[in-house]
Amino acid sequence: MRCLRLNARDNSDCSRVIQESLNFVNFGMGTATLRFRCPCCGFRTLDAPNILALCPVCWWEDDGQEDFDAHEVRNTVNGDWSLEEARLHYSKCGASHPRFVRYVRKPEVSEQ
Ligand SMILES: [Zn+2]
Repeated sequence: MRCLRLNARDNSDCSRVIQESLNFVNFGMGTATLRFRCPCCGFRTLDAPNILALCPVCWWEDDGQEDFDAHEVRNTVNGDWSLEEARLHYSKCGASHPRFVRYVRKPEVSEQ
């Protein structure tokens, strides 16, 4: 019997195609574990720390601010609110600022 959906020649070939798909999925999850935690929401969404990357989960832009200076308002890419305020916003509305609520998304399992 031919497995049309997976474009395999027969059942044993079908198993091979499924196994290759699973390997691909595992590879993808492996790369996700190398990500860095966002200083605002805490999920592993960043490819590297402190490179002004925008977190898709909370919309905080990682400018290097961390726990030790979380209270400072840097007036840079994140506007006129501190990391501390952004964390508070995230706990209340799910975004680093209420105006970003429509842009953010839920964290993926691999980002936790
Ligand atoms: Zn975040």
